Amino acid sequence: MERVIDPSVLPQDDRRIRGASVSLSNLGKSYGSVTAVAGVSLDTRSGEFLTLLGPSGSGKSTTLMMIAGFETPTVGDIAIDGASVVAMPPYRRNIGMVFQNYALFPHLTVAENIGFPLKQRGVPKAERARLVSEALELVHLPGYGDRYPRQLSGGQQQRVAVARAIVFKPRLLLLDEPLGALDKQLRENLQLEMRRLHAELGITFILVTHDQDEALTMSDRIVVMNEGAVAQIGRPEDIYERPCNRFVAAFIGQSNFLPAVVCGLENGVVVAKCEGVTVRAATSLRPAIGAEVTLTIRPERLRFVDEFAEFGCPVNRMSVIVSEAVFAGERCRYLLKADGGASMVLKEATSAEVRRRAVGERAEIVWAVADTILV
Ligand code: ADP
Repeated sequence: MERVIDPSVLPQDDRRIRGASVSLSNLGKSYGSVTAVAGVSLDTRSGEFLTLLGPSGSGKSTTLMMIAGFETPTVGDIAIDGASVVAMPPYRRNIGMVFQNYALFPHLTVAENIGFPLKQRGVPKAERARLVSEALELVHLPGYGDRYPRQLSGGQQQRVAVARAIVFKPRLLLLDEPLGALDKQLRENLQLEMRRLHAELGITFILVTHDQDEALTMSDRIVVMNEGAVAQIGRPEDIYERPCNRFVAAFIGQSNFLPAVVCGLENGVVVAKCEGVTVRAATSLRPAIGAEVTLTIRPERLRFVDEFAEFGCPVNRMSVIVSEAVFAGERCRYLLKADGGASMVLKEATSAEVRRRAVGERAEIVWAVADTILV
């Protein structure tokens, strides 16, 4: 955090402090005629790991910057622990912040970088040294205090940035695409480390990312954003298993979309005609008979079967032609053509035991009624 002059009292020795709760009420931000954030309302619980996920331009960073205090809302309110902070300058909000580009001071050592927010708060030197070495331990970089940022890898620099953001024991940490500049392997390692750190510190984390895998891996809850508004809020499994609309289904993971016409309602199940066959979808929606709907099925929920296979749960089945087969290491990805003309993707875990399908082959596929989502 920059320009933190307020000598607020630092919390006691124990590492676990209660996380802040954050409430956004109808929060909006416009730049001239551009609406960046269009009335976002949500509650972040104390100690939660909440992720704002959405495509580029969906208003994630602007929302985060308003929480941090670097942008002023055009409308709405932000409350931290129940008290509005809209009129409060950033340094008084006592929030830790990590950016994608690390933003370390190149001419300061690692220890000086991490100690910077403490110095601004007027923390005495000996106490500063103690807190810096505690923060270095927390990010698994003990003994790195005398190095300069240029002597560290990208991943290590980002850990230093995290240490600097938590050293003054904020109750809320905001992270704006913190792993965006790192390669895939390193990113995956750091994702797990950030989760560990979150659990260890017990404070509230709000993360911004456009990477759905990152959001699914790290978050307690995900806020899916689209065009400045909230499309869905839920636990990773809720968002993945029950996307509330086509945008969310397409953005989180891969999905097949099949046009269908509703032809009946059974208890808790919609019966529809799809690609010439009757399929069922478990849903709480009650569409009218004759309504045109879209069915969504995840590629890994489709399975090849032989014609006479039996199942322990209600399934839908369809006959298809394999039109493309791609081996991709742990999975095979097949493009299938249904008799009605729709294309579908099926992903199958590879194994020496599983027969690979050939292009042009006719095949039967099944998937559970419970995995059939109506959007
Ligand atoms: P995200 O973080 O999801 O990529 P942003 O919050 O950065 O999205 O931006 C949301 C929208 O607001 C975009 O259309 C962006 O161009 C616009 N925007 C953001 N900041 C400014 C600004 N300072 N001036 C004008 N438009 C802006």
